[in-house]
Amino acid sequence: MRLSDQEFNRLLLLKKLRAAEPVARTELVALTGLTGGTITAITSDLVKRGIVIEEKVVSSSAGRPRVNLRINPAGKYVIGTTATGDGHVLTEIVNLRGESLGGAKARLATTTRIENLAEQFVAALENAIGQSQVRREDIFRIGIGLPGIVDSRTGTVEQIVTFEPGPCDFGGIVARALGIPTLVDNNINLLARGEHWYGAGAHADDFTLINIDLAIGASLYREGQLISGAHGIASEFGHTKIVPDIGRPCFCGARGCLQAYCSVQSITQQSCEHLGRPSPSYETMNACFARLMGEHAAAEIDIWPVLEQASHYLGVAVANHITMQDPEAIIIMGPPMAMMDRLRGTFFAALEQNTFPALRRRTKLHFKVWDKSAYARGAAAMVLEQVYARS
Ligand SMILES: [Zn+2]
Repeated sequence: MRLSDQEFNRLLLLKKLRAAEPVARTELVALTGLTGGTITAITSDLVKRGIVIEEKVVSSSAGRPRVNLRINPAGKYVIGTTATGDGHVLTEIVNLRGESLGGAKARLATTTRIENLAEQFVAALENAIGQSQVRREDIFRIGIGLPGIVDSRTGTVEQIVTFEPGPCDFGGIVARALGIPTLVDNNINLLARGEHWYGAGAHADDFTLINIDLAIGASLYREGQLISGAHGIASEFGHTKIVPDIGRPCFCGARGCLQAYCSVQSITQQSCEHLGRPSPSYETMNACFARLMGEHAAAEIDIWPVLEQASHYLGVAVANHITMQDPEAIIIMGPPMAMMDRLRGTFFAALEQNTFPALRRRTKLHFKVWDKSAYARGAAAMVLEQVYARS
């Protein structure tokens, strides 16, 4: 969904303020291109809401003291929470600058009902709030990231793999139980929002984030806005076909998806096949992957054929994406991998071979290893992005 001009201006101002803070109102005129009157109106409202604070700067010269604006580092806290592939809820409290005040981890009971998952999030959040130093009334919003199809405007979850289909009013269940407004988004969108406001993508209006986890997903920012697609699904990058018709089967029912070669799940399964070992259960997949990487780094096993094929196919898929989309930058997030330099070599060879040089040399590539705080920063970013979308 596109923002209205007014929403876009308010968001633009908040982003520029966040990127340049501490900043005076007069400097925001040059940074945003908005008029002084519009800036005064928006910043006054942000101050009234407690999202932005004013700081008087003592000056040695005569005249009115300069007033700087900053994102309020205290008083407005956000809880960022997400479910991990190995059945845990991670919860972290951050301020609106994305800085952590502590976190908690809780185990999820197995379920196939999305409503039941929401109830388990309520219990985990209740516990995390109880253990924290932050008062419940100071928690401004809860931001939840889920590995599924989510309407972030309403907090409705449509679908999560291995669960019965939705829709489920996930955000509503959590908000009503805890009495705190709750936002929900796809977990990769949350990572991209975190990058856009606080990370390598900060100040960049145009980038694609590709996350390599048990599954593979991508999130796209264009012209400073997260692309949600005409149907709210936006991108299923992991299910684009890399070996059509005859490739490895994917959990979506098709064959030859990128996901079936390059995800943590498929690398683990292929490595076990290669070594003649039984495939692990879904819950133990991450632990098995970490073990395989350790054995591979210690030269106790050789899974290069699997890893090199995964790097090659990822390079081809990213090349196709660049050719189709011409993004400013691509951020690839993933697990720590043994001997990453060699794998990057394979990746870049495939990328160079399959992209027009003019496009390839203009696209910036960033690699980042997973950081468990990234979801919480993404939740804080989502709150900043939606301060106005919901008012
Ligand atoms: Zn698939």
